[in-house]
Amino acid sequence: MCLFCDIVAGKIPSTKVFENDKVLAFKDINPQMPIHVLIVPKKHFDDILDMAASDEGKEALGDVLEAIPEVVKATGADEGFRVINNCKEYAGQTVMHVHFHILGGKKFTEHIV
Ligand code: 5GP
Ligand code: ZN
Repeated sequence: MCLFCDIVAGKIPSTKVFENDKVLAFKDINPQMPIHVLIVPKKHFDDILDMAASDEGKEALGDVLEAIPEVVKATGADEGFRVINNCKEYAGQTVMHVHFHILGGKKFTEHIV
C-alpha cells in the first residue's frame, strides 16, 4: 500500500489544489510555509531516480512541470516559491511515492543553496 496512491485514488481525503488526468496537487497536511502543496504524478514512482529510469517517468516529470504554473495560479504563489524534492533517506523522504513540494506565501529567510 502507498499513501499517495491512496490519496490519488480518493481512498484517503486531501485538499485538492489542481488535478488533471496525469497529476494531482494537494495541500500538505503539515504545512511548513503559508503555501505548501505537494504535486504527485498519478502513476506510482518511488522517487526521482525511479522517474528518470523510464520514458514513462520522464513524461510524468513533464506532466509535473506543466502543473506548476497551475498550482502557482491556484495558490497565489506568484511572488516566488521553491520546488523541493527529497530523494531517499538522507534527504528525509518519508513517503515513497515521488512528490514535489511547492513552498511559498512569504519570503524565505534561510538560503542553504
Ligand atoms: P517528504 O518528507 O517525503 O519529502 O514529504 C512528505 C510530506 O507528506 C510531508 O511534508 C508530510 O507532511 C506530507 N504528508 C504525510 N502524510 C500526509 C497525508 O496523509 N496527507 C497530506 N496531505 N500530506 C501528508
Ligand atoms: Zn504510490
